[in-house]
Amino acid sequence: MRVAVVGYGTIGKRVADAVSVQDDMRLVGVFKTTPDYGATLAARKGYRLYAPDDKRESFRKAGLEVSGNLTDLISEADIVVDATPDGVGAENKGIYAKAGKPAIFQGGEEADVAETSFNALANFENAVGKKFVRVVSCNTTGISRVLSALKLGGLGIKKARIFIARRGADPREYKKGPINDVVPNPATIPSHHGPDVKTVLGDIDIITVAVAVPVTIMHMHMAYIELDDAPRREKIVDVLASTPRILLFDVKAGYNSLAQIVEWARDMGRPRGDVWEVAVFSDSITLNGRELYLMYGVHQEAIVAPENVDAIRAVGKLSDKWSSIEKTDKALGIVTHGKRYG
Ligand code: NAD
Repeated sequence: MRVAVVGYGTIGKRVADAVSVQDDMRLVGVFKTTPDYGATLAARKGYRLYAPDDKRESFRKAGLEVSGNLTDLISEADIVVDATPDGVGAENKGIYAKAGKPAIFQGGEEADVAETSFNALANFENAVGKKFVRVVSCNTTGISRVLSALKLGGLGIKKARIFIARRGADPREYKKGPINDVVPNPATIPSHHGPDVKTVLGDIDIITVAVAVPVTIMHMHMAYIELDDAPRREKIVDVLASTPRILLFDVKAGYNSLAQIVEWARDMGRPRGDVWEVAVFSDSITLNGRELYLMYGVHQEAIVAPENVDAIRAVGKLSDKWSSIEKTDKALGIVTHGKRYG
């Protein structure tokens, strides 16, 4: 599969890197609208740059070679990953459709931009052979993975209530906030995440409540999940620990906060300190009969990168669900010890 990445920001650059390390797909290039440091760094990695015709001169002045415009990039690719800002993907959809190329959109687009929304664990099969697929947002991906893990582990879910402390901005977004506040985000309940989870998990009883907090590193979810039965705590720990893309972190090992999980990823030598997995605080896993409580971190910048790779494989019918998840994880270096694939 020859892959084009349109929109090379927080998500696009991670998807480009994730695609580049897979052996069954190739990055054709990235479409950039400005010749900024992101473009310079992409060129330094050897990624071909594509830009609007009226921006070619500014790229040339910045010492950047342009391989073509958006039409050129799309025509050289078998599939497009659109990682442009919220709403721009929907505007671009017509261009991809006209070129007859399938496209993967991101969670900032409305669900109706695509034939199906996507989370690899939850509904890989729904995207097989589809033309337009939308990878759900970071928070929705985190929730979908945790709920899918429970379902795949044979645990019935009566209802889920998830309380989300959203990071106020990504680390490089110096103009965003809050810097000294906790903001209902939105003040209405449910937040959009609950309905969004239903786009991949179907008719599940879920309500989400979200606030934005003055951090940039990760989101934190506090989950209350009512199960059909009352399992032993060990069963929940086993199910979560054996599910790909979910990692457990213990207080006794020194993991007391999200900052330490970020530090773990940096010490692991991960690119950009990315945490692709849902990071569960294992000590928080608590059962009160059928009531399950847990807390976990979601690295908003990183968590959807492996999902985009799997979405490409599903659309291109390159492999089945579990082979794709395993292949993606091995190539990226996602921790797989003791994990089940299928
Ligand atoms: P971003 O602003 O970091 O990156 C978007 C990039 O697209 C920028 O480099 C921008 O210059 C470029 N761009 C703008 N208009 C363009 C156009 N017409 N053609 C090509 N490029 C264009 O945004 P992001 O955070 O990477 O978000 C991208 C998508 O991913 C959104 O749908 C967002 O909701 C979703 N998402 C974001 C996060 C996150 O935490 N950042 C997490 C999950 C999903």
